[in-house]
Amino acid sequence: MLAEFIGVAQLNELTGRQTVLTDQVSVDDLQRFRQYIVPLPEKSGASDAAGINVRLRFRSAGDEALQPTLLININGVVGLECQRCLEPMLWQVNIDSELRLCVSGKMPEDEAELVDAVEVDDQGLHIRELIEDELLSAIPLAPKHAASECEVATSVAAPVETEAQVEGAHKPFTGLAELLKQDDPSKN
Ligand SMILES: [Zn+2]
Repeated sequence: MLAEFIGVAQLNELTGRQTVLTDQVSVDDLQRFRQYIVPLPEKSGASDAAGINVRLRFRSAGDEALQPTLLININGVVGLECQRCLEPMLWQVNIDSELRLCVSGKMPEDEAELVDAVEVDDQGLHIRELIEDELLSAIPLAPKHAASECEVATSVAAPVETEAQVEGAHKPFTGLAELLKQDDPSKN
């Protein structure tokens, strides 16, 4: 299981040797991320215990001007709640990021550069937090099943607006259409 952070000495070794690490992280260990996650749909055949696979590739600085970088690949399958039918749906996670490792106090001030930089402090690199940040920024804002798979789209029990309800609905622009007709000079 992925450690909470990678210490400075270890980080130097990993980048120096251009190490590739593969590990797994459990959704249960990601306090912020897990609140968005629901159990996977049973028929999906995927297992909740599978976790999320993480591949970390450390690269040393190419020359003095470049900082060491970390290439992160995160993949796996988790369950999200469909925002249309509120049933679980599969979310295939596939994240690829390249981040520059910056020592505390030497973080770039330029906002554009900050985007792809990550801070290394006295403790080292907070790797689990970093993975969680990547997952949180990749999560879809309004996840929805494909229309053909969505319960609402296929279910007969879904509420259907009746004629009467539609008739009684507020139609704020009904009068406006009449007004526009009158004002249109081509109709005169
Ligand atoms: Zn749905």
